[in-house]
Amino acid sequence: EQQTRTSRLAALPLRDELRGQAPYGAPQLAVPAMLNVNETTYDVPSDVVDAIAKEVRRAAESLNRYPDREFSLLRQKLAEYLNRELARDASDFGAAAVQLTGEHIWAGNGSNEVMQHILQAFAGPGRSVMSFPPTYSMYPLYARGVYSDYIAGTRGPGYTQTPDDVAAQIRAHRPHVVILCSPNNPTGTALDLAVVETAYEAALDTETMVIVDEAYGEFRQPGTPSALTLLPGRPQLIVTRTMSKAFALAGGRLGYLAAAPEVTDALRLVRLPYHLSAITQAAACAALDHAADLMANVERIKAQRDRIVVELRGMGLDPYPSDSNFVFFGGLLNEKDAWQHLLDDGVLVRDVGIPGHLRVTAGTEEETTAFLTSLARLAENST
Ligand code: PMP
Repeated sequence: EQQTRTSRLAALPLRDELRGQAPYGAPQLAVPAMLNVNETTYDVPSDVVDAIAKEVRRAAESLNRYPDREFSLLRQKLAEYLNRELARDASDFGAAAVQLTGEHIWAGNGSNEVMQHILQAFAGPGRSVMSFPPTYSMYPLYARGVYSDYIAGTRGPGYTQTPDDVAAQIRAHRPHVVILCSPNNPTGTALDLAVVETAYEAALDTETMVIVDEAYGEFRQPGTPSALTLLPGRPQLIVTRTMSKAFALAGGRLGYLAAAPEVTDALRLVRLPYHLSAITQAAACAALDHAADLMANVERIKAQRDRIVVELRGMGLDPYPSDSNFVFFGGLLNEKDAWQHLLDDGVLVRDVGIPGHLRVTAGTEEETTAFLTSLARLAENST
């Protein structure tokens, strides 16, 4: 059966670069500890469920009409949310006080769609997109989807990035779009803002748009301000965020960005009309009204994240410093065997294709304990 489907697909006049490709996606297995896609594993609090249901019900009454194409209320609420974080950065780090308005905000069905809009507007056929593996493995696929060339930049020892090295690679390759991921998936570490600043200087000379993907921004360690603080005076800078991680709203599909208003004007040229459904807008607005409730678990998740790093070190493994809701670690004899051993114990983690390494999402205390206990047994048996 599968054979015939494969040969039938091969008989279709498919784009050459899609032939033989597999769709992106991690396994979706119902096991007790699902720690492989960096979701928040806590349930949505019941008062937030009620608020979302109420707003979605209200939206349902007008589903005969197209939704607000400009999603104005949602953009305003996203700006207010980011302004609260920016005010904290300003008081904690003396960063410039930045005030965003709805005009600075764009959103889509997940930051995946937001990225696609950016590349449709600023990359496209005959243009190029650069990122620095190991990083989010969708970046080359976004590039492929818009017929752009993908350039894999390089990192230094321990997968680090320095300002001069990143700037030199931008000058050497002159990509149309460069994506910096901070905190980086899968390594977990946030970039020093000096990297973004220096990359931006180079990008001005090479006419490159600079994206900082801050999908995990809310999980940063104290001491690292957001690249949002760099937005004033930098029209070629875009900072992307998502409600999929810290907001515990992966199923709601709402990603967004902040940038100069003229950037959002560019994205309007490529978006499909009414791309954000009235239901999505209603659910996201209700969630933003309860941001504090929804994010109450962020501190708990960070505590489990820090616990994982300490305990893995204690097992003689090699965890990387993490500013995210997951930990990347090396030191395994065989990552495939370790992945299967954990799965047999009901713990699903991510094999990111780097020998000796795995990535685990920080879950609840119980899930984290299940992961650590299973891994400790493996470490005992293999030494
Ligand atoms: N960026 C990074 C770095 C991610 O890890 C992810 C999700 N794993 C995304 C973007 C996309 O998230 P979403 O589309 O759910 O916003």
